[in-house]
Amino acid sequence: MDIKSLPKVAYFCMEYGLNSDFKTYAGGLGILAGDYLKGAKDMQVPLVGIGLKWKQGYGEQVIGPDGKPYDAYHNYQYDFLEDTGIKVSVKIRKIDILCKVWKCDNFGNNPIYLLDTDIPENSDTLITGQLYGWFGEERIAQEIVLGIGGVKALRALDIPVDVYHFNEGHADLAAIELIREKMCSGFTFEEAWKLTRDEVVFTTHTPIVQGNESHPIDKLEYMGAFNGLNRAEMIRLGGDPFNMTVAGLRLSRKANAVAKLHAETANKMWKTVSGRSEIIGITNAIHKGTWIDERITKTFEEKGDLLATHKEVKKDLIAFVKERVGVTLDADKLLIGFSRRAAPYKRSDLIFRKPELIDPLLKSGKIQIVFSGKAHPLDDNGKEIVATLVSMMKKYPNAVVFLENYDMNIGKMLTRGSDIWLNNPRRPLEASGTSGMKAAINGVLNCSILDGWWPEACNDGVNGWQFGDGFECNDGIDTAEDLAKLDKHDCDALYDTLINKVLPTYYSNKTKWAEMMRESISSCTDHFGVERMLTEYYEKLYIK
Ligand SMILES: *Cc1c(COP(=O)(O)O)cnc(C)c1O
Repeated sequence: MDIKSLPKVAYFCMEYGLNSDFKTYAGGLGILAGDYLKGAKDMQVPLVGIGLKWKQGYGEQVIGPDGKPYDAYHNYQYDFLEDTGIKVSVKIRKIDILCKVWKCDNFGNNPIYLLDTDIPENSDTLITGQLYGWFGEERIAQEIVLGIGGVKALRALDIPVDVYHFNEGHADLAAIELIREKMCSGFTFEEAWKLTRDEVVFTTHTPIVQGNESHPIDKLEYMGAFNGLNRAEMIRLGGDPFNMTVAGLRLSRKANAVAKLHAETANKMWKTVSGRSEIIGITNAIHKGTWIDERITKTFEEKGDLLATHKEVKKDLIAFVKERVGVTLDADKLLIGFSRRAAPYKRSDLIFRKPELIDPLLKSGKIQIVFSGKAHPLDDNGKEIVATLVSMMKKYPNAVVFLENYDMNIGKMLTRGSDIWLNNPRRPLEASGTSGMKAAINGVLNCSILDGWWPEACNDGVNGWQFGDGFECNDGIDTAEDLAKLDKHDCDALYDTLINKVLPTYYSNKTKWAEMMRESISSCTDHFGVERMLTEYYEKLYIK
């Protein structure tokens, strides 16, 4: 790619995970966006980010004395953000709301411009209060700030843009603003839509229909999200209720899913949507500088002793666990890492479902598991999952650990220091699963269902393990019976792989383990590094 002639991109995302303490992220989507912006800097491509400055972030989640998760919110202040001196105005519920524009380039990234409503001029300062903290009206207000405010900020900052990239439907209203601008200069709605579609690309993430946000059209109108368009025009874009993913697909010239398997799933999911863009697969990747332990990279490059280096890194994790929860794990025993958002389809408790098999392995210390993960503050099922994991920690005090308040720092420690990275979602519901890439490039062996990115990387028994053989539910329309069948199938497969493959290799064939670590690193480092991903976005989406 010739850097000088590349199109200029504005990347819109609700969250950015840049570093653990900058609380502008919730999970995978944000970490991906953060890694992407870091990669853009490394490759020196012309790309800026647009996001929101969250006063309270996603919130902290701590475990109470009763073993249940509780949410806590703090106000954060960051002295490294630069005030651009610019404020743009959006109309929400017919009231003018000013959005202050901050510039963030403190971490050496391409700049990200963060909009903030927490200023004294506003009647409602908390629109940018809590990331994903509310539903309905407040979410729409946040999306007006991100989308409409974001485009206005780009204009006020005088940043030229060739391509608008919406990472998820949260940013859709940016396209409504682009259409409005064109209609103001004389184009019809039809023409303005067509011209806008030509400059927008869209990334879809969630393969669960209910997980794709939608809003009643009346509510969008009341909030001011029509932004000058009429009701019929809005319904043509997103339907009624207005589905943010459907609209994203109709407002973009091209779209992508975040892994090859996810592209198949997404095309099936949205096949009945008329006038939508084509969805191709561009698999996610990670920023190696953020996630990979240098000692591992060095040992790998020098063809040194990976087992010995990994043990050092593992001891760092063990010390971290000791400091956090007071448990002393054993560096000579298999350590399984598992950290995922607590959502039912991720089945965090799958490994406990046959106590007769797992109990002796945990009691003898042959297997140790470190969990982490947050539940969405309003998700009671997710909170129950967390409580179950915490109860396992009480039952197996020296073998099971739950680390509260999952963040980038915990993610970093776990994806370096574990021996095995376990992942057992209901296929095909995990869109990508970037934590597995962090593990793989650190020589931590993936043991995973063939979902998300893993089918593209897995060489079973050579660079990690798969289990479940790609079994899945019936087209995503699952009766309770289908799900029970799937869970039983995958649970049996998990135990089979763990007991007959992972444990014997770990305890009786260290040479093979070391070879597998080497294979994991060599097969994944280039392909799942963010440079490959950025290059694909330029070649397949941004460059026409
Ligand atoms: C990498 C990472 C994620 C994304 O991981 P998944 O594999 O998608 O579950 C989420 N949260 C944190 C803190 C991470 O570091």
